[in-house]
Amino acid sequence: MEGHERPAEEKTMITHELLNQEYKRLELDPRRSHMHELISTMLSHRTNHADEQKAYYTMLERFGDWEGVLNAPEDELADAVSTTRYPLQKAPQIQQTLRMIKEERGEMNIDFLADLPVEEAMAWLTRLPGVGPKTATLLLLFNFKKPVLPVDTHVFRVSQRVGLIGAKVTANKAHDILLEMLPKDATELFNFHKHLFWHGQKVCTWSYPRCEKCVLNGICNYYSQVRAKGIDKAA
Ligand code: SF4
Repeated sequence: MEGHERPAEEKTMITHELLNQEYKRLELDPRRSHMHELISTMLSHRTNHADEQKAYYTMLERFGDWEGVLNAPEDELADAVSTTRYPLQKAPQIQQTLRMIKEERGEMNIDFLADLPVEEAMAWLTRLPGVGPKTATLLLLFNFKKPVLPVDTHVFRVSQRVGLIGAKVTANKAHDILLEMLPKDATELFNFHKHLFWHGQKVCTWSYPRCEKCVLNGICNYYSQVRAKGIDKAA
């Protein structure tokens, strides 16, 4: 059996091991406060990290704190976060999210999520406007160390090309399928997420995957097809 023909469960664990060797292992320590992570992740949709950060700090400088952001005129908030994509959508979503948190929790604080089971925490978060599965899983893994797997565009693309998930699987379904094949341990899931993210950024890029230099090429469906085409042409 060739490497790319192995079962998806086996390839998932091989991918995890190879990328653990290729990239540094990380400790899972929250990089920012829970509220900061939630709102910044909302701002990061289709936006690079520098522009997301600029928007976050501009917003808090202009309006002072979460109460100030909640009560700001919507057009002024949209202007403050205009370094991100879709500021006219994000401004009302952020205000509605803050309003719901305040009304339901009595304060701008989501620490209570630490005590909720994963399914309940996911259900609570994905009711908030502008918070989908990716934002919810990022927050729950990075900050609350819950065993979930954020599937962003890089994780999704690499997983599909290698053949960890099928070609027709959606990003939302990919979360459940990949999670089922991985250890239910937050630090392992964090490293798997970060390593696939880096790999998608640096090696398995959308437009020009560097397959010859890739440590996953021995198990990768995409590479086996490219190689076969090359052999066909040469024949
Ligand atoms: S072999 Fe190519 S397509 Fe497969 S994961 Fe590596 S870079 Fe991506």
